Amino acid sequence: MASSLEIAGINKRFGNGDKSVEVLRRVDIHVAPGEFLILVGPSGCGKSTLLNIIAGLDDPTEGEVRIGGKNVVGMPPRDRDIAMVFQSYALYPTMSVADNIGFALEMRKMPKAERQKRIDEVAAMLQISHLLDRRPSQLSGGQRQRVAMGRALARQPQLFLFDEPLSNLDAKLRVEMRAEIKRLHQASGITSVYVTHDQVEAMTLGSRIAVMKGGVVQQLGTPDDIYNRPANTYVATFIGSPT
Ligand code: ADP
Ligand code: MG
Repeated sequence: MASSLEIAGINKRFGNGDKSVEVLRRVDIHVAPGEFLILVGPSGCGKSTLLNIIAGLDDPTEGEVRIGGKNVVGMPPRDRDIAMVFQSYALYPTMSVADNIGFALEMRKMPKAERQKRIDEVAAMLQISHLLDRRPSQLSGGQRQRVAMGRALARQPQLFLFDEPLSNLDAKLRVEMRAEIKRLHQASGITSVYVTHDQVEAMTLGSRIAVMKGGVVQQLGTPDDIYNRPANTYVATFIGSPT
């Protein structure tokens, strides 16, 4: 069952007193169960900070994060049932691909047979079944990214967070992996938030897009809304709408 995600009235300040910096301001985003939402904006606009707050790696100064209707602010990351994929894959170098994918399941004490079945399913979904015995050093960049996604997917999380996962890949691979991520989302139906600074990626991947600038959501809408009915000149310029 997919969960909803509600980001409600999130403010975030770093530091104290007059040295403090406001990084997120009154962010309200509702993500429907099973939806794939894109968060797009220039570097430094607060995208990673928002993802970290959703994941519990950071706390908001104000506001709530509700997963399946439940406020999770203050709950440790491991209890939130969230998987996160970054641009750096951080695979375990000494483990095989299969062990990398199955590690979290082993930690959860899932029995070996069940674990093996889950690893095989995920590997088939990602078309990496032929790579299960290899080490990360024996893989290409795109294959490593698939393994990283497989590792996240194997846990069957309630929520999938992507923080610019493709920005280290070359242009051709990036296009290929975009299609892969889209397919994976359709197959798994897991509620997802995908962060990028790339307008093209945003427009091709998402069913809805939140455009951010300076810690504020400028517009939240479908690619059609954003492109054809930009809320302000910033959005129009950033997305490259016809004026
Ligand atoms: P993005 O992911 O959109 O590039 P970030 O969320 O990483 O942006 O950063 C947003 C702003 O918050 C930046 O100005 C960054 O310098 C600042 N920032 C991020 N983390 C911290 C921190 N731990 N302490 C102080 N400032 C931070
Ligand atoms: Mg970032």
